[in-house]
Amino acid sequence: MQLFTIFGNPVSHSKSPLMHNLSFKGLEYDGCYTRYRLEDGTQLRSKFFDLDIIGANITVPHKEEAFKACDELDEFAQKVGAVNTIIKKEGKLYGYNTDAPGFLKAIAEFKEAKEVLFLGAGGTAQSTSVILRDAGYEVTILNRSAGRLERYEKEGFKTYTFENFKATENYDLIVNMTSAGLEDESLPCPIEILDIVIPKATACVDVIYGKETPFLKFAKTHKKPCKDGSDMLLYQGVIAFEHFSNQQFSFNEIKEHMQKAFTL
Ligand code: NDP
Repeated sequence: MQLFTIFGNPVSHSKSPLMHNLSFKGLEYDGCYTRYRLEDGTQLRSKFFDLDIIGANITVPHKEEAFKACDELDEFAQKVGAVNTIIKKEGKLYGYNTDAPGFLKAIAEFKEAKEVLFLGAGGTAQSTSVILRDAGYEVTILNRSAGRLERYEKEGFKTYTFENFKATENYDLIVNMTSAGLEDESLPCPIEILDIVIPKATACVDVIYGKETPFLKFAKTHKKPCKDGSDMLLYQGVIAFEHFSNQQFSFNEIKEHMQKAFTL
């Protein structure tokens, strides 16, 4: 039997073991997926070998350490500096980022969307902004503080803080890429800014899943279509499973089993 795990801290809340084990069972694949709370991310590589696992997902706060732990990186992971999926092949660790393609697929239903406003500039925004731009979207980043914006500016994104934001453009999608609302009731940016950008938007998207955030509640008061982070989570998991199972199954075959985790 092949063993897999998710490394993170905290990790007890993660849906990934359920998602992957349902797919292993449904597809009759001889695999088992567990969870591992890792305090020190620099230990990731040695733990990976000690546990004798074949593959792993990596969640907060170790995606950058996971990037450093790999021997080989796929082109996209190399570009964004964050890894959430690792496979061991012939003693080498291969790293991938499936969060960003998962998000890209999750917003594909908004077919006419082109201009996207990201609220937040953390690690998730970093990889997703790059994949969206590569796919032809125009991405603008609005963040609470200026520090994290430097990297985006260097990469040619339009960036604003709350203080210097100019709402002159129309954004089709407004995306909460922050952790605001995850464990509190805060909005990702001042309500005055949301009051300007949301009425002109086609839809509002949150990367947080499993609860209705204050951001999505507010978007609903403007009668906007809303989408939470569940599909992103599902799709990043399906793409990770494609790697785990060495591309033996189609996206839809895996999805059919994995999505049951959201109804249990
Ligand atoms: P980071 O810690 O890297 O970044 C956090 C960002 O949120 C920063 O831009 C920070 O701003 C901003 N922020 C935090 N709190 C507030 C607040 N109260 N008001 C305004 N801005 C705030 O986080 P990640 O990028 O790793 O994660 C972001 C979110 O994405 C999390 O909620 C996480 O759960 C979710 N996620 C969902 C996934 C899915 O599959 N659905 C996958 C991965 C992540 P500042 O720079 O000013 O500190």
